[in-house]
Amino acid sequence: MEKIFNNTENAFSLKSNSELNRAHFLFQMIGKPSLVKIGTSLTNFALKFHLPVEGIIRKTVFDHFCGGVSEQDCLKVVANMYTKGVSSVLDYSVEGKEDEEEFDACLKMTLKTIDFAAANKAIPFAVFKPTGLGKIDLYEKVGAKLPLSSSEQNEWNRVVVRFEKICQYAYDNDVQVLIDGEETWMQDAADDLSEKMMEKFNTKKALIFNTLQLYRWDRVPYLKALHGRAKEKGYHIGMKLVRGAYMEKEAKRAEEKGYKNPICSSKQATDDNFNAGLTYMLDNINEMAIFAGTHNEESSYLLMELMEQKGIVKNDPRIWFGQLYGMSDNISYNLAANGYNVAKYLPFGPVRDVMPYLIRRAQENTSVAGQTGRELALIISERNRRKLN
Ligand SMILES: Cc1cc2nc3c(=O)[nH]c(=O)nc-3n(C[C@H](O)[C@H](O)[C@H](O)COP(=O)(O)OP(=O)(O)OC[C@H]3O[C@@H](n4cnc5c(N)ncnc54)[C@H](O)[C@@H]3O)c2cc1C
Repeated sequence: MEKIFNNTENAFSLKSNSELNRAHFLFQMIGKPSLVKIGTSLTNFALKFHLPVEGIIRKTVFDHFCGGVSEQDCLKVVANMYTKGVSSVLDYSVEGKEDEEEFDACLKMTLKTIDFAAANKAIPFAVFKPTGLGKIDLYEKVGAKLPLSSSEQNEWNRVVVRFEKICQYAYDNDVQVLIDGEETWMQDAADDLSEKMMEKFNTKKALIFNTLQLYRWDRVPYLKALHGRAKEKGYHIGMKLVRGAYMEKEAKRAEEKGYKNPICSSKQATDDNFNAGLTYMLDNINEMAIFAGTHNEESSYLLMELMEQKGIVKNDPRIWFGQLYGMSDNISYNLAANGYNVAKYLPFGPVRDVMPYLIRRAQENTSVAGQTGRELALIISERNRRKLN
């Protein structure tokens, strides 16, 4: 497979010199674990005590990783990226909310993003997080099949209604929906709900996509079992494949509670698992659709290779590559330039509510060996290329 991801001219074609310099500064900063640790504590402290830090957060990390504070703000970015063939997924990234009003607000916003997607071909998917619609503790209890009090049962019924409303609305508007994956202890209940939604709405094609976190060693067998049920009942599987974002949290909880860590024993084992999931889906592509959410170049090349081997055209509507806004532009823009379907998650929301998302990005770029180095190397190479020109 021809190596296409080193073309920095494509990768940064939409970045001005000053944006490139900001990205350089940012990745230099978040590459330093001690700085990220101190920065995270200071930011949390400042936001808690309402110190005026939102302006500086906006001008630095926020604007690099987010499309804006509202869905409307994002439209400029969406249109801009689409000039290079890169699509967007509007991601309402308000996290950690715990009350009914907030859950209803998230439902409303998700429905609105479905409207946006229905009206704009640059937005091929909507997305939501299950815990945006209900409490994580409730998902955990339902997943563990523990008895619910009557008020908990009512609360859960409301979560189910919210889930159904989103999927029904997506179906009515012919918009694809990605359901994000979260912590293992809430995931069983979310998986069951997602499966019911696929059974109901994926009869003709995959519209509803669940997420398979392949840093979990039990996910390939899960996918195969799900495939068996889907064949029996006659529906398509939509699946976003990711490695998984909660590794440290998962290991810590497993140790504290004394159960086996649900995460693969090494990075290599996760990589093998991811690639096995990808291969299984490609082998069964007539009954499935894939959104490969990854910044890993090898996995992206593998998917391209599998498509070629199977004679699947580059823009087959069942296969999408996905990256996060502000990361791995070398993958996104080069894939688009070569004719593949690619979409970037474009997070938005009020600065303080998006902080958990931003902190996860900073920590991820710090803890994942190689990622920050790779981003920096690409930025430096593009700066040098521009100087020479
Ligand atoms: C479009 C998109 C959507 C996403 N949606 C979700 C989502 O819904 N839910 C979610 O959880 N995450 C989601 N993620 C994040 C994703 O799970 C990864 O955290 C992130 O993309 C980094 O993994 P990678 O495949 O890009 O590549 P890499 O940089 O190659 O892999 C890093 C990942 O490998 C795994 N890993 C690292 N070290 C080890 C180790 N020692 N042992 C075992 N495994 C290890 C971890 O999962 C780590 O995040 C999404 C990412 C993208 C791009």
